[in-house]
Amino acid sequence: MHQDSMQAERRPKRSSTPKVTAPQREVCPKCGSPNARIIGRSESFPILYFRCDDCRRTSVGPAV
Ligand SMILES: [Zn+2]
Repeated sequence: MHQDSMQAERRPKRSSTPKVTAPQREVCPKCGSPNARIIGRSESFPILYFRCDDCRRTSVGPAV
């Protein structure tokens, strides 16, 4: 029984988290229901796209 030298490769922890789609709820501008979900966002403008679970409509709102 012979063990070679253990190669302890220490991997640096990656702190960069991938894009996590958090279930963030927004207020629907159309019907006022707080069940709108963010379905996308613009990269050139601070704009978010919502979709309401109540009225089933997509709307655009400013990203704060
Ligand atoms: Zn709505």
